[in-house]
Order: sequence, then C-alpha cells, then structure tokens
Amino acid sequence: MGSRHGFIYAHPDDETFLSGCLIRRLADEGEPPVLLLATRGDAGRQGLERAKNRQELAELREQEMAVAADILGIAAVEHLKWPDGQLDEVDFGTLVQGVISFIQRHEVEIVYSFAEDGGNGHRDHIAISKATTAAVLSGACPSVRKLYYANSPFIREKGLKPSIMIDTESMWPVKAAALRAHETQHVTINRTFGNLVDFPEERRWEAFVLGWQDGVLWPEREEVESQCP
Ligand SMILES: [Zn+2]
Repeated sequence: MGSRHGFIYAHPDDETFLSGCLIRRLADEGEPPVLLLATRGDAGRQGLERAKNRQELAELREQEMAVAADILGIAAVEHLKWPDGQLDEVDFGTLVQGVISFIQRHEVEIVYSFAEDGGNGHRDHIAISKATTAAVLSGACPSVRKLYYANSPFIREKGLKPSIMIDTESMWPVKAAALRAHETQHVTINRTFGNLVDFPEERRWEAFVLGWQDGVLWPEREEVESQCP
C-alpha cells in the first residue's frame, strides 16, 4: 500500500487545472488520491447558461466533477458545500475543522493545495489555502507527512523551486478530457488552455513546492540555506 494523497481545493475544476496529470499519474502508480472541494462552484455566471439557479448549477457541477474524477482516477470526492465566492466569510475555525475531518477520515499523508496567494488571487483559493495550512499545523492531523503548494507568483517571489514537476505533454489527452468534463466552465477553460486539441505549450508544467514536512515549514529552503554557510 502506497501513500495516501489528498488534494484540497476551492472549486470543481481546480484539481484538473493545477494537477490533472499529477493525479492521474498517482492513480496509475496505485495511489489514487482523494479530493476535497470547499464549494460546489455554484457562483459561476457562465454556468448559468445551462442551469436555472445556483442550486441547479451546484448539482450540475457536482456531476461534472464526478465525470472528471473518473477520468483522473480519483478515489473519492468530497464537497464541503460552502457558498462559492464567499469562502472568506465562512467561520475560519469551522472551515479548518472540515479540512481536518477530511484528512483524518482518509488518513491523508501527503496534502496538496493552493499557495497562500491562491495562485491567481481568488479569495476562495486564498481561504482554502489558509485553512489547509492551519489544519496541517493544528496537531490534529498526525497522518500528514508533507504539504505541497501549487506553484504560483507567491512561490516564485519567495525564490522557492518546485520539487514536483509534471510535464503534461504526453498525458495531454487525459487532462483535456477532464477539462472537457467541466462543461459549464468552457469559457474559462478555453481562455486558459486554448481549444484543448492543440497542446498549450505555456501551460506545460504542473508544479508543486514542498511547503511543510514533518513539522518543518519550507524545508527545501532550509536545505538550500544549510548548503550555503
Ligand atoms: Zn477555483
């Protein structure tokens, strides 16, 4: 039995955007990850072309997520069902508790989430990043050994190098299929990844930096510093 990997994000499709190929690779290696989403993505205006209201959109996006999860080989998807776009208004302790429960229930050993800038500055992304870090540091998740953050402007400013780099070119058809599964999001997806037929060179890498390991924050940076007395 390999490691238990847990991905923790804000919206259905975050998992595919940032880590579709990493997830599929872990699944192929016999370590299918679990996924926690803080919202069901019910605030997206573009989805309301296809759904009458937020409730219907939430159900639709949950179904799309289930299809993407099958394509990526995700073992279980859980939704905290907090309101999309308002995650920073949720009581922080309650949000953290939801993350802790998920980690405990699945005995997650390796956690992946957004960096503290949320990658693109989205307030929901920032909120779930903070809650995930707080959960890992809380002492209530002894199963966790490593916490990785998706590469982002914040990470680059800190001068931190990713320790996981996935070249998505050879697996592009799989990632494209998972992106297509998030049908309601086609406008954002096409803006980010193009037509999904041609490989988007500028989106080649899925990259994660090690943010915490066995009680040490930014362990890689410390390693680098210790090599330069
Ligand atoms: Zn998102």
